[in-house]
Amino acid sequence: MGDRLTSLVVVVIAGAAAAVVNLFRLPLFFEAEFLFGQFLVLLVAVYRGPLAGLACAVIATWPLVDAWGSYWATLTFGMEALFVGLACRFVRFNVIMLVMIYWIAIGMPVSWYSISGYEHFLDSHRTAILIKQLTNAIVYAHITALVMYLPVTRKLLGFDQKPVTLSIKEQSSHIISSLLITCGIGFFFFNLDQSIKNSGSDYSQVHDIKHEQLKAQLGEVFSRKITAFSEYRETLAQLWNDPEMRQQSLLSFNQRYPQFRTMVITDQHGDLLHSSPEELVKNVKSQNENINVADRDYFTHAISSDQTYVSPAFVGRGFGKDLIVAISSGVPDLLNRPSNVGIIEGSFILTNLRHVKSLLDNIDPSVEAILIDQNGQVVLASEQLQLPPLQTFELVKGVDTFYEHSLVTIKKTGGEPGREVYYLAESLFPWGWKLLSLQNEARFADVIERSLIIFAVTIVLVVLISHILAFAISHSWSYHMTRLNELIERGDEFNRELDEFENNDQLPDEIVNLYQEIKNSRQAIVKMNTELQNTVAERTEKLQIVNAKLNKMASTDALTGLDNRRQFNQKLDEMWQHSQKNLSPLSMLIIDIDYFKKINDTFGHPVGDQVLVQLAEQLQHFNDDRIGCLARLGGEEFCLLMSGQEHTDVISLAERIRKHIEEYAFKIGSGKPFELTISVGVATINPTRFTASKLYQLADNALYEAKHSGRNQVRYSHLD
Ligand code: GH3
Ligand code: MG
Ligand code: MG
Repeated sequence: MGDRLTSLVVVVIAGAAAAVVNLFRLPLFFEAEFLFGQFLVLLVAVYRGPLAGLACAVIATWPLVDAWGSYWATLTFGMEALFVGLACRFVRFNVIMLVMIYWIAIGMPVSWYSISGYEHFLDSHRTAILIKQLTNAIVYAHITALVMYLPVTRKLLGFDQKPVTLSIKEQSSHIISSLLITCGIGFFFFNLDQSIKNSGSDYSQVHDIKHEQLKAQLGEVFSRKITAFSEYRETLAQLWNDPEMRQQSLLSFNQRYPQFRTMVITDQHGDLLHSSPEELVKNVKSQNENINVADRDYFTHAISSDQTYVSPAFVGRGFGKDLIVAISSGVPDLLNRPSNVGIIEGSFILTNLRHVKSLLDNIDPSVEAILIDQNGQVVLASEQLQLPPLQTFELVKGVDTFYEHSLVTIKKTGGEPGREVYYLAESLFPWGWKLLSLQNEARFADVIERSLIIFAVTIVLVVLISHILAFAISHSWSYHMTRLNELIERGDEFNRELDEFENNDQLPDEIVNLYQEIKNSRQAIVKMNTELQNTVAERTEKLQIVNAKLNKMASTDALTGLDNRRQFNQKLDEMWQHSQKNLSPLSMLIIDIDYFKKINDTFGHPVGDQVLVQLAEQLQHFNDDRIGCLARLGGEEFCLLMSGQEHTDVISLAERIRKHIEEYAFKIGSGKPFELTISVGVATINPTRFTASKLYQLADNALYEAKHSGRNQVRYSHLD
């Protein structure tokens, strides 16, 4: 199968498997979800290269595109696979570190921008999501690191393409750090998840308490007035038949509740009877207008009921065009209850409700509040919300859920939903108004974000510390193995006792055994080696002796012990070269026994040999420093070589030898002594001009001459 095709198959299968694993995500705080499928993508990137990793990431993130509504996952996880795949080509990789570096340096910054504005992720949750992602990446990188060394992984993904070889130390370091980090992250995550849940419920409790407090305060403000109206309607019913008293009592009632800008009394048809201030009605009447309020809510509700009515906010009429809220109550007909004879009404101007406004503004720094009327219009709202009175809006729910609290955004009528997200608490007042208190979710996210940042820093530290720890532990585990390895490489260390292995109680048994085994075999090898060397040395010595003997034999005449002809030839050559270099003369004496044949014939060959031996002994007496070579050339012929001697000295030496032999009495065994003579041929040459063979030829000629001149004499020939 072609390599490309193999990669394609691996990418498709691993990508599909990762996509399936990615369907089962572990939900965490906010929208964060823990993913595990990415470990397969990393394996592909490590074993099959960056492009295969990228392709695998695209397949693996398919379920996320749909679930998260963005290509964010494809982008960041794709780049992660590219980064890791590329980096592995250049560094002896530690996939965990590579992944961590990627997310801190590239993944998190890219994500920061790419998930802003997506509906699925709230901006206030971005930091939390990125930190989750970093932690998530560290976790799946550890799964990758753990399984990538398994033979089965290598077989399925790597084939023999890229063998991953690590030392024992590196492998154990990876495994230990993976375990430590997994435990560390698990512990921190559990704590974090718990603490976020706790602070989430603390937050909502505080929110609820604040809401209840505000509700009570507002209820108090309004119910006092409602009660006052309910009491006053009874008082007014008593005075109804006396217009003067009605006016007076209205003025004094308004005095007691000065927050009401105006108060009026109408008859049962809605026509104004009295007002406070008093001149309002007079002014209107002086213009011949007869104001009727029968169409107003506060009239219609009050005239037919015995309950005090609080109106929605509305724009005033007649006495000005302020934004007002009215409180009204029917004045009972004492003779014909429950019907009413008229109503009393008091108006607040909204902008004058400073007390209520300050309650809404100051409920809590993290909570905003809105008071809405029964028509859903804003009566008053906290300043930050920028909701003017009479504004209508909609609360869009279901944006997100966070631990069972629904979150809402505000959508003003005719406008777009805002980006701010709130936790909502709402209450209905008995008079039909509602209080909404909203806690901006971003403030809570800020608090969570701080603990997440601490968490992320802790995790990064945990990773680093785990690696250092794992390195230290695996170092101590593999230390003795490494030491043994070093010693084996050095080779000669096992000759002596090694304290670190011999006297160390802490050593694991395997190491002790291994050490002993190596030591024994090393020592055995050394012993064998020494023995071998000794034998070789012994043999060599013997061989040298034999060689020397052979050499001697090769260069010595067996009978006389003098140099033989071979040795003579060699020395002649050497001496000739020496003389030539030193410009010194070279001389040769050839000695031949006279009538030797006769001795042989007379006494026999063995005696002849004895004679030759004795002659050689006598010649040895002349063998001093001046003589370069004394040789038996063969038969009864001997030769001497001399270098650097004057020819006269040479001739006189020859003469002395001849004389010595002439006078010497040879004696063989118990036989009679006898005499013999020798003839000597002497020659001297200048070696710069003549060759060694010329010298031999000259000496031989001289010997010939000596023989022919009657024997027992010395003859000399020389060439200059
Ligand atoms: P001349 O005075 O002319 O030199 O007469 P000669 O008899 O010495 O010379 P010749 O060359 O005719 O004889 C040499 C003899 O030396 C012949 C041979 O039998 C004898 N001879 C040669 N080598 C040996 C040897 O190793 N041992 C003995 N015993 N005799 C030898
Ligand atoms: Mg001879
Ligand atoms: Mg002879």
